Amino acid sequence: DIPRIATPARTHAIMERFGFHTKKHLGQNFLTNLDVLSGIVAAAGVDEHSDVIEIGPGIGSLTQYLAEAAHQVLALEIDEALLPVLDETMAPYPNVTVENQDVLTANLRALIEQHFDGQHSVKVVANLPYYITTPILMHLMQIDIDFESITVMMQGEVADRLTAQPGSKDYSSLSIAIQNQMTVQVAFTVNRRSFVPAPNVDSAIIVLQRRAEPLADVDDQAGFNRLVRGSFASRRKTLWNNLQQLYGKDADTKAAMTAALADSDIAPGLRAERLSITDFARLFNSLQKQHV
Ligand code: SAM
Repeated sequence: DIPRIATPARTHAIMERFGFHTKKHLGQNFLTNLDVLSGIVAAAGVDEHSDVIEIGPGIGSLTQYLAEAAHQVLALEIDEALLPVLDETMAPYPNVTVENQDVLTANLRALIEQHFDGQHSVKVVANLPYYITTPILMHLMQIDIDFESITVMMQGEVADRLTAQPGSKDYSSLSIAIQNQMTVQVAFTVNRRSFVPAPNVDSAIIVLQRRAEPLADVDDQAGFNRLVRGSFASRRKTLWNNLQQLYGKDADTKAAMTAALADSDIAPGLRAERLSITDFARLFNSLQKQHV
């Protein structure tokens, strides 16, 4: 049996032997709770039919579990100082490849073609670096690769924003951008003491899967996203004030916006946080009809 990398004792011993110190600016909080690690693999449904892209393997704590469950694992690690560590910890796992790359600039499509055989579903699994959780999620959503699922650990408060429903204080343009394209499920929450070093907040595992069609039935998703972001620009202002800020305050624009709001049956005095994704879609289509 291959020993676990992620016990607290082994994690400290590995870091000490390589003279490695975690870097806060790269979001390096390593998991040291074995139940959480097997829980992530189970939540992701990783099995021998899956090829896995892992973002940020660190010293390989989660990678080991992925390697034991998956067909192939491709791990992208930005920190060069971790490469010799991973060389050693991943030595027993011929199905793991480590690439020294930034996930935000890596050519994922080319990497997938290079490392995977196209016969297995491709899943993303990661304990995300918290400083770029949102950019990574937006990136994974926008690159238009058909991931079977994206299973990621993030700060509890970001998870709250991803799952928030209309009327809640966490409901934002991020909630809508994600929920419009993906289904979002909380698998389980993780205490901050499960990491070395411990972060300041607890975390949650989220499973995202692309919907067959976006929830918003509109012919211009980019324009739709612009409407949503603009509507939340000043959270405490009314929809009407935010729309004027977004589209203009001249008489023609105001008249067209008034007509569109009436047509879509949305009160201008509401705040954006009251509107569901389908409300926004209706408003967007009416605005388009009025040439706003
Ligand atoms: N997977 C390990 C675990 O669970 O213990 C480490 C997770 S740690 C929260 C995040 C990892 O992502 C670190 O190893 C960090 O160096 C790496 N990382 C940070 N920014 C990255 C980026 N832009 N691209 C790839 N990896 C990154």
